[in-house]
Amino acid sequence: MLLFKISYWIGMIAELIIRIPFAISIKSQIVLQKTNDKRENMLLGLLSLTMLPPLVYSVSNRLTSFDYALPDWMGWLGLGILLISVLIFWRSHYDLKNNWSATLAIYKEQKLITKGIYKFIRHPMYLSQLLSSIAQILILQNWMAGPIRLLFFLPFYLLRKNNEERVLEARFGQQYLNYKEQTGSLFPKFIK
Ligand code: SAH
Repeated sequence: MLLFKISYWIGMIAELIIRIPFAISIKSQIVLQKTNDKRENMLLGLLSLTMLPPLVYSVSNRLTSFDYALPDWMGWLGLGILLISVLIFWRSHYDLKNNWSATLAIYKEQKLITKGIYKFIRHPMYLSQLLSSIAQILILQNWMAGPIRLLFFLPFYLLRKNNEERVLEARFGQQYLNYKEQTGSLFPKFIK
């Protein structure tokens, strides 16, 4: 459905626009430490390439032989999940401010954020990406364009989460351990 394809791209563009001011604001940050995990960086690169099949699927008929058809309500559910994911994406950027980084990094002036959405969960930005990857399967009903992002996001998340928590623990010590104790990773602790 054209409406689904258009809504999907509105969601992706909204995420891009949300990110721009933060990407600019981190330019003045001094990086103390960067991830040196090659697998993580490779998966991050591949993750950005997963945009290509949805693009081909949306602007041409080349992939139509891989279409699958879900009931209408599932497509609408996908749009609802996408909307929630964009809201969480915005809120996590708003709370994390210039502590954000696309690749794992520790800045000289980095503060440990424990307020806003980070009061409940440690990885809201990754939750938003998980939700939009699930939404993509429901909205772009095509075997090449739908599941591809989730396939790459899951291993990336598992690797990144561990690396990130390790460096934050090394940087913030007991403060991070206390924070970890009080929060869930993707869902608040009281749900877990
Ligand atoms: N995992 C978080 C942040 C993703 S951005 C989320 O899903 O919302 C990745 C960067 O955020 C990393 O470079 C890390 O140093 C930084 N970071 C993660 N959690 C943080 C926190 N609570 N306070 C400050 N910086 C944090």
